[in-house]
Amino acid sequence: MSTALTVALATLVFAGGSSNDQWKTRLAEVREQLPTEDFTIVRQSPFVVVGDEAPETVRARARGTVKWAVDNLKELYFDRDPEEVLVIWLFADRQSYRTNAKTLFGSIPDSPYGYYSPHYKALVMNIATGGGTLVHEIVHPFMQANFPHCPAWFNEGMGSLYEQSAERNGHMVGLTNWRLAGLQEAITNDRVPSFTTLLSTTADEFYNADPGTNYAQARYLCYYLQEKGLLVDFYKAFHKAHTKDPTGLKTLRKILSTDDLPKFQEEWEAWVMELSFPS
Ligand SMILES: [Zn+2]
Repeated sequence: MSTALTVALATLVFAGGSSNDQWKTRLAEVREQLPTEDFTIVRQSPFVVVGDEAPETVRARARGTVKWAVDNLKELYFDRDPEEVLVIWLFADRQSYRTNAKTLFGSIPDSPYGYYSPHYKALVMNIATGGGTLVHEIVHPFMQANFPHCPAWFNEGMGSLYEQSAERNGHMVGLTNWRLAGLQEAITNDRVPSFTTLLSTTADEFYNADPGTNYAQARYLCYYLQEKGLLVDFYKAFHKAHTKDPTGLKTLRKILSTDDLPKFQEEWEAWVMELSFPS
């Protein structure tokens, strides 16, 4: 087999993504599901974006937020698209979000902002609250497709990192955000668990035994790595090592060149205390 053909086949196999038939089926499903005629459907690969704001607004969000986030995340981290065509529902306000989520997916959402439902193959957003949660939720299906064994702390750390993001030197970066104040307060009160504890949490512990700092601690660890120019390398090294290092602890020690995580945590906490939001 020629090298060129090998590469082409490898690309086909590893690119993930959806066939034309999958697209047709999914678009037909969405048309069937539309709660009213006020919705605009935009094919924004690898997603279908559907919203009940003005058509030009839905199109602007598809390009300005969805495409922007997808292009940047793929450039930094992800080779594979989600295997199925996921639908991003952008509901124009609280009422539309709650009513339509109940009708389409059976329950009123817990989150006022939005959520990802793997079961319904949908990202469901109250887009009136801004595009931050949308970018956060876009991270999850990509993580699922590319790093299925990624622990919850890193999945949520990365999602949370990009919920407040911008472009710096042509790349997407996370910025400080609303999660900072609670974290600084917990640091002041000496309530932040050790990184060994955080990184060792199971998904159930991360979500259901959260002392209130899990998301913020994970986010600002990712933010620290980003600001030190280590986050992309950490993602790649952790992805590669995850069978031997399922929590990421070994990879973290390696990338930080330290065996003393308690000492690192002291430095990290001092660094976090210097951050500000709004900056
Ligand atoms: Zn999340």
